[in-house]
Amino acid sequence: MSDCVFCKIGSGQIPSKFVWQDEEAFAFEDLNPQAPVHILVIPKRHMTALNDTKPADRALLGHLLEATILIAQNKGIAESGYRVVANTGRDGGQTVFHLHFHLLGGRRMNWPPG
Ligand code: 5GP
Ligand code: ZN
Repeated sequence: MSDCVFCKIGSGQIPSKFVWQDEEAFAFEDLNPQAPVHILVIPKRHMTALNDTKPADRALLGHLLEATILIAQNKGIAESGYRVVANTGRDGGQTVFHLHFHLLGGRRMNWPPG
């Protein structure tokens, strides 16, 4: 999508610090990190949110989570622990409408979230 900030990051129109890239997904550091490790893991194909996925996207969703797990290992936070978040829609606090998983770690997280 031409006016989507994450599609623009994927195409290189907006620079970012990539930490992962394969044929279906990419991941980069969040511009406004909320933890020492804060990575966004994203499908290359534009989809607005979890609500926008279909049964045919099952493998893609699994792939995104698998990439998230591998990135957590690469970043050295697998043992200490981490949080994976998909803010979805208005009440979920989503602000960028291209599906993404936040990977947060490197500090102790609070619960419940705000
Ligand atoms: P959401 O609020 O939709 O769950 O998360 C969107 C995230 O994207 C936010 O954490 C925000 O900091 C991040 N973000 C928004 N614009 C940019 C950008 O241009 N570059 C990067 N690296 N992150 C961005
Ligand atoms: Zn997009």
